[in-house]
Amino acid sequence: MTTSDVLRTDYQRSIAKYWDEERDPVNLRLGDVDGFYHHHYGIGEVDVSVLAGPEDARDERIIAELHRLESAQASLLLDHLGPVASTDSLLDAGSGRGGTSFLAHQRFGCRVDGVSISQTQVEFANAQAAKREVASKVRFHFRNMLETGLATGSRQGIWTNETTMYVDVFELYNEFARLLRFGGRYVNITGCYNDLTGGRSKAVSQIDERYTCSVHPRSRYFKALAENNLVPIAVVDLTAQTIPYWELRARSSVATGVEESFLAAYREGSFHYLLIAADKV
Ligand code: SAH
Repeated sequence: MTTSDVLRTDYQRSIAKYWDEERDPVNLRLGDVDGFYHHHYGIGEVDVSVLAGPEDARDERIIAELHRLESAQASLLLDHLGPVASTDSLLDAGSGRGGTSFLAHQRFGCRVDGVSISQTQVEFANAQAAKREVASKVRFHFRNMLETGLATGSRQGIWTNETTMYVDVFELYNEFARLLRFGGRYVNITGCYNDLTGGRSKAVSQIDERYTCSVHPRSRYFKALAENNLVPIAVVDLTAQTIPYWELRARSSVATGVEESFLAAYREGSFHYLLIAADKV
């Protein structure tokens, strides 16, 4: 597909440019630990011994710990995909450098397609697939997740790992409903703002500003799912489980400055880290 087929708006072009140019150590150094490159956040208990160790080894150990928590996040997402056969096909919508796709292939042995609007990311992830010798099963495409061009009913599972804040979720779930077969599963992990605290808090606005994204209210996800025959089966509030990751990251050498906004938003209750799994009916 040509660039103008994939990137339709100035907004999408600016997001693609951001990810094309992104070389943040918080993403690259963590991925270097074991070759699974994530652009999402972590969950779970922190091993605080990493903060106490000898000064020269401290930084490496913190980075490995942050990476472990990010991989744990991806594993939890995959736990919610339900049974996946090696003959099934999955879609990683907004696939970044491919970390979650490779973990999915490792677990299920099935075909995984990833789509991203960043050509640089797609090339990076395809090079990783070749290096891992899984390129016949794990493929990344320069495509827009709002219009993937993939076959109708071709997917047993689809996930979005921190990508929905870049798009209109009604449009997105319309595309996913087309791609999923009956009984297929969609899993989403995202930050969303709290309808109860009333609109976008200052901390949430800072997150939007930092990533040029638009965090959705929690309610919007459920309206968009319902409108597109996607019926929730699990909703997990991961907020308490992600706070330790952010506290550790704030004290690390790879802190980017956005840590305080996330911590403030989570602690004041204006923002949640949510997992939603839904079945296509
Ligand atoms: N899911 C990955 C990457 C998350 S970063 C991970 O967990 O590591 C956000 C990703 O969303 C980037 O790869 C960006 O290119 C992608 N993205 C944003 N808008 C998109 C769109 N309209 N279509 C496809 N990908 C998109």
